[in-house]
Amino acid sequence: MDYMLGVDIGTTSTKAVLYDMKGKVIAYANAGYKLYQDVPDMAEEDPDDILDAVVSVMGQTIQKSKANPTEIKGVSFSCAMHSLILMDHDDQPLTRAITWADNRAAKYSEKLKNNGMGAEIYAKTGTPIHPMAPLSKILWLRNEKPELFKQAKKFIDLKTYIFFRLFGTYKMDYSMASATGMFNIFNLDWEPQALDLLKITRDQLPDLVEPTDKITGIDSRFGNLLGISADTPFIFGASDGVLSNLGVNAIDPGVVAVTIGTSGAVRVVVDKPVVDPDGKLFCYALTKDKWVVGGPVNNGGIVFRWVKDQLFAPERITAEQMQVSTYDILTQIAEKIPAGSDGLLFHPYLGGERAPIWNAYARGSYFGLTRKHTRAHMVRAALEGIVYNLYVVMLTIEKITGKPKSIQATGGFARSSLWRQLLADIFEQPVTIPESFESSCLGAAVLGMYALGYVDDLSAVKDMIGVTHVHQPNEKNFEVYRELLPIWIRLSEILEPEYKEIAEFQKRHSN
Ligand code: ADP
Repeated sequence: MDYMLGVDIGTTSTKAVLYDMKGKVIAYANAGYKLYQDVPDMAEEDPDDILDAVVSVMGQTIQKSKANPTEIKGVSFSCAMHSLILMDHDDQPLTRAITWADNRAAKYSEKLKNNGMGAEIYAKTGTPIHPMAPLSKILWLRNEKPELFKQAKKFIDLKTYIFFRLFGTYKMDYSMASATGMFNIFNLDWEPQALDLLKITRDQLPDLVEPTDKITGIDSRFGNLLGISADTPFIFGASDGVLSNLGVNAIDPGVVAVTIGTSGAVRVVVDKPVVDPDGKLFCYALTKDKWVVGGPVNNGGIVFRWVKDQLFAPERITAEQMQVSTYDILTQIAEKIPAGSDGLLFHPYLGGERAPIWNAYARGSYFGLTRKHTRAHMVRAALEGIVYNLYVVMLTIEKITGKPKSIQATGGFARSSLWRQLLADIFEQPVTIPESFESSCLGAAVLGMYALGYVDDLSAVKDMIGVTHVHQPNEKNFEVYRELLPIWIRLSEILEPEYKEIAEFQKRHSN
């Protein structure tokens, strides 16, 4: 039997899944690692912890599957975007991996936005100007940690680090590069304006490769440990976001991938790179002729968690004692409230927001409260508010890609039929919940199968995933949402200039 191993290096854990060439899951392993938060806004990981995790999950998967190592025809990678590691002249890390969640470069991304340089660079790179991106992080390091900056031979990301340790060369695929803020998505090369700004040279960055490129000759120490031969091809792969689109079969024109997990995202595949005139969407490479346009949202399921923990604390305790899910109880309560929550609107910006408003100061609010409203209304309005916000991201995407046709949705929210239906009603699109296990691993594996010629094109994925639920938009409900959405959007615009003052008040008065 022939197998493909998909490995997804995530922010909290690395997953490996061994698939047969029809996408059937043969074995799975997962290993977590520590997130370092020594100072405010820091979010770092030890790259060697991650290397250990990668090797360990690969080994466990191979062992569990009982596959003969010669049957493993390739290993293909997915990785969290935006990480940065500085390497010294002895090829040792000077820093931990600074992850996308690290916010210490905020001052520098703000500066880039204000002086106009950010917009110019975004127009070439497709990465929104934000502290998440290596562009802002390197600027921060150059200014605030000059001794580290001066010693850096290379500026790399986590996936490059893993490949460096396994194969001894610094190579980064277009997909990961397209999320650095330093890569020109139109000519597929490092962007000189970004490099000039950072005062770094292109030889300080990894060599660029295509996501479907492969490498052989794994360091014998790792090869022996894993029991795989030096001939086994490793496919560089791509980033987790774009591979998740592939893994849920949202790669055809007009098919939108919506994720509502702890955070959220809306993503659509187009056939050439495009940027948003307002700099609010990302455009990241999947392959040279498949690009993913979309917006990441901070306030997804984490907002529902807040409702559960803060507004329904006593119910949560009872539910836990009865060993039932508080989320299920809350969605049952919310189901009894009509669409539109009797005119109660909620802006879900409990943790600042990235897309669609890119405002770190944004704060949440309920609007339209009357004496008639109950906590049940507040639950439903919160779920609706999370989806309204994603819908506004969709409206921005739509201006570039055209109207969507259907939605493939994933994430913890999909456990609730009410929430799935809300998504169909607010987007006015049919919603399908695919049955795909670890979609970024599957995306990596399918890309690997394509790179090695086991499938003719990426659409082979559609026969590899199942369907768990399909929801059609309900006309009565979407008519209500059509009335409310313009009010919700107008309110966002009215509130936007007020967020900074209240956020600063909160910061001054927090203890
Ligand atoms: P992550 O993005 O961290 O991988 P998940 O995709 O599992 O997390 O999503 C977690 C979120 O899913 C929770 O914060 C919650 O909002 C939502 N969720 C979990 N269980 C349910 C449920 N039974 N009904 C509705 N929403 C749920």
